[in-house]
Amino acid sequence: MNAAFARGTVWLVGAGPGDPDLLTRKAERLIAAADIVFHDALVGPGVLALVPPSVELVSVGKRSGRHSKDQRTIDALIVEAALAGKRVVRLKGGDPSIFGRSNEELEACHAAGVPVHICPGITAASAAAADLGLSLTLRGTARRLTFVTAHTKRGEVPEIDWAALADPQATLAVYMGKAAAPYVSAGLIAAGQAADTPVALVENASLPKGSQFRTRLDLLPIAAKTALSDGPALILIGAAVAEPNASSSLETRERLSREDISSFAAH
Ligand code: SAH
Repeated sequence: MNAAFARGTVWLVGAGPGDPDLLTRKAERLIAAADIVFHDALVGPGVLALVPPSVELVSVGKRSGRHSKDQRTIDALIVEAALAGKRVVRLKGGDPSIFGRSNEELEACHAAGVPVHICPGITAASAAAADLGLSLTLRGTARRLTFVTAHTKRGEVPEIDWAALADPQATLAVYMGKAAAPYVSAGLIAAGQAADTPVALVENASLPKGSQFRTRLDLLPIAAKTALSDGPALILIGAAVAEPNASSSLETRERLSREDISSFAAH
């Protein structure tokens, strides 16, 4: 790995959703080969425990509403470390290319002539689906999967084109949507999405303290307020996240196909 991780290089590395077992082997090797690791607040203790004690570990934690280094400072720190000849890992929650402010860091590296690479990670939506034990897409029913962020500054209404998102054949994965949950619910319903569209809230996906809560679109605001605590949470919306026993049509279809098979077998 050292040969591939040259001095003075930056790797933006996806840390996955929290469970250290969901780190890629490449991410683990890059972390072990780094001279310095800059990490987000979202990167949990299980992953950070994989950083060898000899590697310098710097928190540049960003959680909305809490004190953190601003993006420009982070860009400058990374570039500075690389220009000093260090092997730099910028460790980010989930996948670096999804709501991870990677672009700013890529541009800062390019501008400074610092070589920069990306190691993908498992995004929160994939981990949430795994915790719920379901598929985010359904053949013929959920044909589209949209990742959207509903992040807002305190008290601000997110500017989102709800009409473009209201789609009974889509699964919507809302990142950073806890505070904006009332707007998500009202916006989609006003744009024509059914009030009883299934919703799943998944907090701390992939972690032992993880929790899941099922509700429906019109009840999302109250559910987000009462069912979630202060961990990172994803809101999944659409037919794909219906309770297994609620989608009895699916079960019926399965049973019918089994009956079909046995009647075929009888002939
Ligand atoms: N790059 C990250 C997303 C960063 S935005 C990724 O690909 O997953 C941060 C948001 O991601 C959080 O507000 C939350 O909505 C979601 N998130 C990250 N980790 C999560 C987890 N373990 N469980 C649930 N949601 C998570």
